[in-house]
Amino acid sequence: MSADHTDDAGTTAPHGHAPHDHAVDCTEALSRLFEFLDAEVDELEGDRIRQHLADCEPCLAEYDVEDHLKKLVRRSCLDAAPAELHVRIRQQLTILRTQVELG
Ligand SMILES: [Zn+2]
Repeated sequence: MSADHTDDAGTTAPHGHAPHDHAVDCTEALSRLFEFLDAEVDELEGDRIRQHLADCEPCLAEYDVEDHLKKLVRRSCLDAAPAELHVRIRQQLTILRTQVELG
């Protein structure tokens, strides 16, 4: 009977993944999501964020539209998100999800 103590690596790597060093990381992609969706980032930046989301399913899964909309509404002191914004966000999501499925 020998107890195996090989599980002693002690690596405390942060839970996460970083597959794309050259692009925005998950944190940045998610934190800039609003600006991206609201077309407040420039084209290049928006492209990098979109690219990340298209490549990164965990991020896309985080991409809870309703939840983000509620936060956006709260931040903007509005009673409800403008229908226009809903539509735009849904369009962006459809595009992103299509890209992921095709990719
Ligand atoms: Zn990601």
